[in-house]
Amino acid sequence: MIELRKDYILDRWVILAPSRKKRPRDFVRQAADVSANACAFCKGNEKLTPKELGRISNPDGSWSMRWFPNLFPAVQEEGQKEARTDNTFYTFAAAYGSHEIVVETPRHDRQLWDFSAAELEQLLKVYNERISGLGGKDGIRYVVAFKNSGSEGGASIAHSHTQIASVNVLPKLLREEAAAMKNYPGCPYCRIIESEKGSYRRCFENNHAVAFAPYASRFNFELWIFPKRHLRQLSGATAEEMAGISEILALTLHKLKELNAPYNYILHYLPEAENGNFHFHIEVQPRLSIWAGFELNTGIIINSVTPEDAARFYRGEEG
Ligand SMILES: [Zn+2]
Ligand SMILES: [Zn+2]
Ligand SMILES: [Zn+2]
Repeated sequence: MIELRKDYILDRWVILAPSRKKRPRDFVRQAADVSANACAFCKGNEKLTPKELGRISNPDGSWSMRWFPNLFPAVQEEGQKEARTDNTFYTFAAAYGSHEIVVETPRHDRQLWDFSAAELEQLLKVYNERISGLGGKDGIRYVVAFKNSGSEGGASIAHSHTQIASVNVLPKLLREEAAAMKNYPGCPYCRIIESEKGSYRRCFENNHAVAFAPYASRFNFELWIFPKRHLRQLSGATAEEMAGISEILALTLHKLKELNAPYNYILHYLPEAENGNFHFHIEVQPRLSIWAGFELNTGIIINSVTPEDAARFYRGEEG
């Protein structure tokens, strides 16, 4: 069983997944680099992955995206869903949930930053489908949809993919963000968007979405994408809003390609079942620097690129 454990006194959780240490990481990296033949995510190697859960098919019968359970899950649908405390200090549960992979392209040599806005829109729709599919299950509190790109971004397989994991806890960062929003009348993000879209930190804007480098950016070239309308979840977006968000995601990733930047992005939303307000957004986190002793032990991040300079880069005004 994969176990979820809480720190003695802090609200800090850890997943202990010991089977993961058996993973032949080094082999996977080499295989991904040298040849697509051994790559389980490539077209023609579909039999090497767990049973497919869904796909987007092309008219000729081939696929453009497909998704299936992760062979090396961080969570599993077994064990005790609710946390329990023994002897005051030992709080634990099963790390309960599902962990899926979405392979975004049959091609080994294509990354997400090569995608058009229309292709990214297709991917966002897959996210919506999986988030609602997994989020409604018994014992599930949240569905984390995240992209790891590049080895510093945590991608151990070079073939472009997204991970989607449902978990039996509402992640602390989301809880903190939702709680902090309650310190303001209405939605603070609706006002922040209004303010930032005209600031030195503005990056991209269209009719339905906006992107800016956040005021206290933690990562070099960090960028947040918001729908302009107050939307709690991406699944509530109209067709025009989906297109607008996808266009800005495409512009963002095309700029990251110029830097060949490893990155993560994550969808932030609040599930229907949680009592609270939220404004959906995508946080894009380039991984060009390493959080070291100071950051890991103080929680205060040292960032060598100001968000104002980052925004100039995204707007194409650098140099
Ligand atoms: Zn591949
Ligand atoms: Zn809002
Ligand atoms: Zn957020």
